[in-house]
Amino acid sequence: ARLANQIAAGEVVERPASVVKELVENSLDAGATRIDIDIDKGGSRMIRIRDNGKGIAKDELGLALSRHATSKISSLDDLEAIVSLGFRGEALASISSVSRLTLTSRTATQEEAWSAYAEGRDMDVQLKPAAHPIGTTIEVLDLFFNTPARRKFLRTEKTEFNHIDELLKRIALSRFDVSITLRHNGKTIRQYRTSQTQIQKERRLVSACGQSFLQHALAVELEHGDLKLSGWICTPQGSRSQNDVQYCYVNGRMMKDKLINHAIRQAYEANLASDQYSAYVLFIEVDPHQVDVNVHPAKHEVRFHQARLVHDFIYQGIQSALQQGAM
Ligand code: ADP
Ligand code: MG
Repeated sequence: ARLANQIAAGEVVERPASVVKELVENSLDAGATRIDIDIDKGGSRMIRIRDNGKGIAKDELGLALSRHATSKISSLDDLEAIVSLGFRGEALASISSVSRLTLTSRTATQEEAWSAYAEGRDMDVQLKPAAHPIGTTIEVLDLFFNTPARRKFLRTEKTEFNHIDELLKRIALSRFDVSITLRHNGKTIRQYRTSQTQIQKERRLVSACGQSFLQHALAVELEHGDLKLSGWICTPQGSRSQNDVQYCYVNGRMMKDKLINHAIRQAYEANLASDQYSAYVLFIEVDPHQVDVNVHPAKHEVRFHQARLVHDFIYQGIQSALQQGAM
């Protein structure tokens, strides 16, 4: 089991940012509205994620750390309509197989919190009473301490931290209803406050993408049947300097999808703007039954059942927004 976990870890856990991704997604799946992230030394020394989600019951702590244990799918029907971010039950097992992991949690029905500790090679999970409000804290120490080859591949502290920061930007833009803080070596680097109004959302957009993105952005919002498109696209003039901002979400998931990218590029081209300069933050909502999300192990790609329809919807939406923006 240990080997299987470490092999799986190679797929899930590439670097500190991938650990942060899995843990934050778990917090979101648990319904957290507040997530605090503490990083030491780019994550190679410590990654600690605290949330106020529903917590994990004492008798499920050990299970949460074991492979293929997921509480999120209980039937084949669920598999076809995945709405939660995680569904493979691999992340915690994989991460704990290459680190020293402490999982502390308390549910609303428990009087006290419990803590489980797992360390790389021995998957014996020890439970101890702990002090913790409702929610979960996962602390990952010494990532890759027992896989030196992989530890050697870690880049500088700054580079690894930048990957984490970038990832959290993307998450912050997908969940305006969740407050997220990020600290590095004890210093607060980002504070994404809960935002409901358009002004608050734009404030978060600025925290993540900078003032100049907002200055050149057009807000997009349209619907067609089950399909919904919203967000911001940068006008061609503005996007020159915002080349790296290309964030796209399908049902709340970050995606790098060829079909979507293609539709967006075409819309820019149709406006006689070079496709090289497209910059956007876009949210696509589609009936979960109309989309497959597990076609790629890194979970960045989707397959739409009605690909053409989705493509044309995005194309037309952005095309007309760009056209209006140009007037
Ligand atoms: P998956 O997310 O694919 O189910 P994980 O290995 O990431 O698998 O997590 C295993 C299980 O541990 C989850 O299904 C969930 O029940 C529980 N869990 C993990 N993190 C949290 C959290 N922050 N809050 C509540 N439950 C959690
Ligand atoms: Mg998960």
